[in-house]
Amino acid sequence: MKEPGRKISIAAPYFSGREREYVIECIDTTWISSVGRFISEFERQFAAYLGVRHAVAVSNGTVALHAALLGLGVRPGDEIIVPTLTYVATANAVAYCGARPVFADSDWRTFNVDPDAIERAITPKTRGIIPVDLYGHPVDMDRIASLAERHGLFVLDDAAEALGATYRNRKVGSLTACATFSFFGNKTITTGEGGMIVTDDDDLAARLRIIKGQGMDPQHRYWFPTVGYNYRMTNIAAAIGLAQLERIQTHLDRRRELCNWYDDLLAPMGESLRLPLEEPWATSSHWMYTVALQDGVKARRDAVIASMADRGVETRPVFYPMHVMPVYRESDGRYPAAEWYGARGISLPTHALVTREDAEYVAKALCESLA
Ligand SMILES: *Cc1c(COP(=O)(O)O)cnc(C)c1O
Repeated sequence: MKEPGRKISIAAPYFSGREREYVIECIDTTWISSVGRFISEFERQFAAYLGVRHAVAVSNGTVALHAALLGLGVRPGDEIIVPTLTYVATANAVAYCGARPVFADSDWRTFNVDPDAIERAITPKTRGIIPVDLYGHPVDMDRIASLAERHGLFVLDDAAEALGATYRNRKVGSLTACATFSFFGNKTITTGEGGMIVTDDDDLAARLRIIKGQGMDPQHRYWFPTVGYNYRMTNIAAAIGLAQLERIQTHLDRRRELCNWYDDLLAPMGESLRLPLEEPWATSSHWMYTVALQDGVKARRDAVIASMADRGVETRPVFYPMHVMPVYRESDGRYPAAEWYGARGISLPTHALVTREDAEYVAKALCESLA
């Protein structure tokens, strides 16, 4: 039964550092727009955290993908392979370039994009691959990188959900020519709205700064040789981001602890629930703890979500695969793993403020909702 007043949200920002102090500094100094010390400092420390040469701050994770694709030279008519099981921004960013997102199915373990499915989707028009580190679990990047190299394709890692995750002891975001992050309110660290593009390539970084700054020639003020965009981050957003980044290990540790609690609490429900796994070569950022209803379970996923809501627990369905969306519609049945997970997956509250007692309540509510 619902406990009166109990409300556990699926996500929540966590401010435990100097966020307030830095934002007040923006106001006191009047540096509130897209110039200021926090932008350069946030970029510098973000690049240092990942061990990459460049970090370019932008206004959200979607435009990070768009700018990165433009910087990588994507043109109308190109094909870019993306997982069908992702947030819509991954596919939309490709469409913004006039290019075509070509979908690939998930593997049956992590539900990340399956390298074999990527390989099958390659055509003479394919220019690149955007793997997505779904719910914070890294993709098997060595396999993707080697097939990309064999076919002469770029790899742009959509690491929006995987800040702080590692792949074979290397940080996600440092594995590919280019990677992007999001700082939306529900991500590992937040700036309200915000994003980052990272790369080791000096020329790409220079192009990205032109693209995000209206196309202006860096050597010639108010001279615009190409069409650019206003994709800049504000100093206020960067001030919050810097304070968040200074405490990132705490954010990650809290999430890991919570996911360990869920693992223990839900283990007895193994007959009905498929729990998330962590491959031996990976550490997840634990962005969203996501379970799936096993095949034998009678309860419908959406009824379970409604019942959890009645008990004061906010959950959310796994992403609907892109190929079922009206804009990207393809026939059913071609992507069985993504369709299975998209229909049966539920993400549980995952954020730094969920207590052990909350986790126990969530597990109990889930058990009742399945009955
Ligand atoms: C959050 C997210 C993005 C970008 O989101 P914004 O809200 O635009 O910052 C892109 N891809 C994935 C997989 C995401 O989860």
